[in-house]
Amino acid sequence: MTDPRRSVPRTDAVLADPELADAVERLGRERVKEAVRHAQEKVRVGVLDPHHVVDAVLDALPTRPVTARRVLNATGVVLHTNIGRAALGDEAIQAVVDAARCTDVELDLATGSRARRGRGALTALAARVPEAEAVLVVNNGAAALALAALALAGPGGEVLVSRGEMVEIGDGFRLPALVESVGVVIREVGTTNRTRLADYADAIGPRTGAVLKIHPSNFRVDGFTCEATVSELAGLPVPVVHDIGSGLLAPDPLLPEEPDAASSLRAGADLVTCSGDKLLGGPQAGLVLGRADLVERLRRHPLQRAFRIDKLTLAALEATLLAPTTPTATALHTASSSLRERAESLAAQVGSGEVVESQGRVGGGSAPGLDLPGWAVALPEGVAEALREHAVLARVEKGRTLVDVRCLRDEDLPAVAAACREVLSQKGTR
Ligand SMILES: *Cc1c(COP(=O)(O)O)cnc(C)c1O
Repeated sequence: MTDPRRSVPRTDAVLADPELADAVERLGRERVKEAVRHAQEKVRVGVLDPHHVVDAVLDALPTRPVTARRVLNATGVVLHTNIGRAALGDEAIQAVVDAARCTDVELDLATGSRARRGRGALTALAARVPEAEAVLVVNNGAAALALAALALAGPGGEVLVSRGEMVEIGDGFRLPALVESVGVVIREVGTTNRTRLADYADAIGPRTGAVLKIHPSNFRVDGFTCEATVSELAGLPVPVVHDIGSGLLAPDPLLPEEPDAASSLRAGADLVTCSGDKLLGGPQAGLVLGRADLVERLRRHPLQRAFRIDKLTLAALEATLLAPTTPTATALHTASSSLRERAESLAAQVGSGEVVESQGRVGGGSAPGLDLPGWAVALPEGVAEALREHAVLARVEKGRTLVDVRCLRDEDLPAVAAACREVLSQKGTR
């Protein structure tokens, strides 16, 4: 036996290997050198054949520029929180690319002077909701809500919230805690199942800055319930902030229980807050719409600067607002017959699997309990896990894998089918 330490290839020699030229160019010499050192160490301790050093280096180096991977959504859940909620449309993606270098986000190219940041997105939003006197865009829905509470109530001031609307939004974050974290006191009114206008009216005091009406977007309470409507609350002597959550700008007959910005403002809400990456189908953002004087108070508040929205997001938001439709709207509204055809096409490309009915969901904490009738290709249960390694996310239901086609585009089908075929063939040979 020869001493393995003797056969460790020299760093320079490994780095000069033509097979590593690409990696050196893409990742830089230092990064590749680090991987070479690790491989050399393995040779030294006798766990790597010195002839396989280059392969080991290539295996250890990332093949993608970032760790985040593109995932194909075959869950049938339109707004899947764990894969980034709304998928952007082609127009929005192009807008992000165009804005990525330098852009006139805050500059008037005609005069060379400073311009209102994100005016394109704000104008597009205002045009979509004429009921709003003014609009503002911040980092996300939570920021919009915190900013509204703080700007209207002030530190130590109060906002009134129904006990039926003390909502946890996910990952342990609770909206009341969010509001309290900026120094605003929550005054709870009513009960879990019933809160009336009089409960709010009785609770109004000198420190009340606003009534906060929060849409309980991710759960339902059935039975002996009642709540004060926005139009009732509008008669109170304090501003009404309506957190509608999902960002529907106008009513959608498919989602009858989902509040929308236009209707809420018409009913008398002074401000509406919502997310950009739920039903609106855009990037992560928080929208504020409503009374001009109140929007201006939020805009001038120091914390607004900490919630400022990025140029890439502004570009994606404007493009989303101007686009004729979004992938989210398309996935929600595609007719069941078209989904069935897509599922049949996928099954044919896979070469196996049964085309079955599949109940999709809106997801993202929107429209809980609403089924979206659709179609999927059913495969054996274990397939879902293996598909995940190919970055295809399917759903497991009643002992089988459902590859739901609702959120897949026709151009995604070949990649999904290839992943399914690969997984099924491996399964067969195991
Ligand atoms: C989702 C949601 C939020 C939080 O919005 P983000 O954009 O996730 O910060 C706040 N309120 C309601 C009612 C929601 O549904």
